[in-house]
Amino acid sequence: MVNCARMIRAVTLDLDDTLWAIAPAIARAERRMDDWLQQHFPAVAARWPISRLRELRDRVASEHPELAHDFSAQRRLSLRHAFGDSLGHDHHAIDGGIESAFVEFQHGRHEIEPYPEVLDALARIAARVPLAALTNGNADLERLRMAEHFQFSLNAREFGRAKPDPSIFHAACERLGLPPGDVLHAGDDLDADVRGAHAAGLTSAWIDRRGTVEPPAEAHLHFGCLGALADWIESRVPVPSEKSRRGAGAPSTPMKKPTRSPLT
Ligand SMILES: [Mg+2]
Repeated sequence: MVNCARMIRAVTLDLDDTLWAIAPAIARAERRMDDWLQQHFPAVAARWPISRLRELRDRVASEHPELAHDFSAQRRLSLRHAFGDSLGHDHHAIDGGIESAFVEFQHGRHEIEPYPEVLDALARIAARVPLAALTNGNADLERLRMAEHFQFSLNAREFGRAKPDPSIFHAACERLGLPPGDVLHAGDDLDADVRGAHAAGLTSAWIDRRGTVEPPAEAHLHFGCLGALADWIESRVPVPSEKSRRGAGAPSTPMKKPTRSPLT
C-alpha cells in the first residue's frame, strides 16, 4: 500500500460493485421486469426477451453517448424502442407501459445484498468522518437500509456528468465543505473511481476484491474490502467530538432511514 500522509476529513464512496455486487441485482431486476411484461404486455415480452432487451440497451448506450451519465434514461429509451416495435402507435399504452416496466426494474435493482463486511464498515467509517455516496449508477440510497450512514448521495444522473469527470468529485467536496485534498474517495473502478479521484485532487483508494492485478500508480491506497478501509480510517482518524463534527463544514444531518422496506 502506498504511504498516504494526508489528513482525511471525509470519505466519498462508490456504490455498485463497491458495497454490493451489481450483476445479481441487475439480473433480478431484468427477471422482475420480464415477469411483469409477460403479465401485462405479452406482445412486448414475446418479442423482447431478457437477452434481446439487454442487447438493445447496450446498443442504445453506444448510440447515445450523451446519455452516458444516465442509466435510467438509457433503459427508458430501450423500453420505448421495444414497446414501439411491439405495439405500433398506441402512444398512451406505450407511455404508461414504459413507466410501469421501469418501476418494476427499479424495484428489482434495489434488492441488493451488501458484501458481508459492508454494513459494519460503513458504521465504523461514519463514526469517524462524514460519509457521502458518489455514484454513476441509478441506485436510490434512501431505499436501502444503509442510508443512515451517509450525509448525502450524489449521482451522475442528477449532476449531469459521470465519474471520472473531475467536476462531480469537486461538487461532492463542495457539499462536504472541504477541499479535495481533505477527502478520500474509494471505489472498485480503476478509471471512474481511482484515476478520476486522483486527477480531481482527492486521495484515491481502490477497493479491489479480486486482488489479481497490481494497483495502478494513481491509487494512493489499495484495500481488499471495505472493512480494510474502515481499519485504516480508525487507525488514522480519532473519534470526533460533537463540537468538531459541527465545525467540520459538512452537513450534520445524515440521510433519512428508509421509510420503505429495503426490498421494495
Ligand atoms: Mg462501482
